[in-house]
Amino acid sequence: MSAGSPIIERLFSLRGQTALVTGGNSGIGFALADALAQAGAAVVLAARREYDLQDAASRITAAGGTARWVACDLSKRNEIAHCAERASSFFGAPDILVNAAGVNFRRPIEEVTDTEWDATMAVNLTAPFFLSRSLIPPMLEKGRGRIINIASLQSVRAFSNGAPYGASKGGVMQLTRAQAQAWSRHGVTCNAIAPGFFPTPLTAPVFGDLQRVQEMAAQTMIGRNGELEDLYGAVLFLASRASDYITGQTLFVDGGFTAR
Ligand code: NAD
Repeated sequence: MSAGSPIIERLFSLRGQTALVTGGNSGIGFALADALAQAGAAVVLAARREYDLQDAASRITAAGGTARWVACDLSKRNEIAHCAERASSFFGAPDILVNAAGVNFRRPIEEVTDTEWDATMAVNLTAPFFLSRSLIPPMLEKGRGRIINIASLQSVRAFSNGAPYGASKGGVMQLTRAQAQAWSRHGVTCNAIAPGFFPTPLTAPVFGDLQRVQEMAAQTMIGRNGELEDLYGAVLFLASRASDYITGQTLFVDGGFTAR
């Protein structure tokens, strides 16, 4: 089998597919959108900042991909259905939904404010729940679809200053199983990717602390932290036919961090 062989094309090509990627203007979301676009999917990026969305879509287009964007605040429940509707207006209803938007305020548990708790749950857990529910009817009608949620090391590990974030990401892992239970029989598989420690705007404050960066790398089996390209294979696998018989799972792309 070579890269151009019919079986590889059938298993991994995303030509003719449409993907909506939340948080697609930055960091991990952008990397996942770029990977999907390079495999042939038309991608729609959803996040708040228009300038960054435009810039991210242009970078995907400049590399030969097809991309559009929708500006929306996913922490606001009433914007979620609108986001789904707008995202479906470009290339039709998405076949693939990647829920990558996320926030982390990193505060000691005693100091977490009501607003921080609510905002963390709203973006990290509530938005994936309601956005998936908005986009599922056309997937069920087609008898095919993919939900890919973004979990975390903190789905299964407690980190200092990470109580709301960890609780939301534990929820994402369980939400993935519940979605898989509801929809897999109808052709929609639901899985999560749990990245290890990757350099993005979200983790910039932590990456600024060299000792912490080295400690995180030392806790992996491979001996280094993640690079965004490490995520490309996982998302292409979970978005494509190659993972047809896999659902309800969380794939840790963490250099072996959680396997120890
Ligand atoms: P990032 O800050 O680069 O990206 C976060 C994205 O979420 C941005 O596009 C931002 O615009 C979007 N977002 C935040 N609040 C939003 C809102 N209210 N409405 C719409 N969009 C909103 O950070 P990242 O590290 O790329 O994070 C992406 C995902 O990966 C998150 O779910 C995060 O929890 C997860 N994650 C990151 C790491 C890591 O090491 N970077 C590890 C595990 C999981």
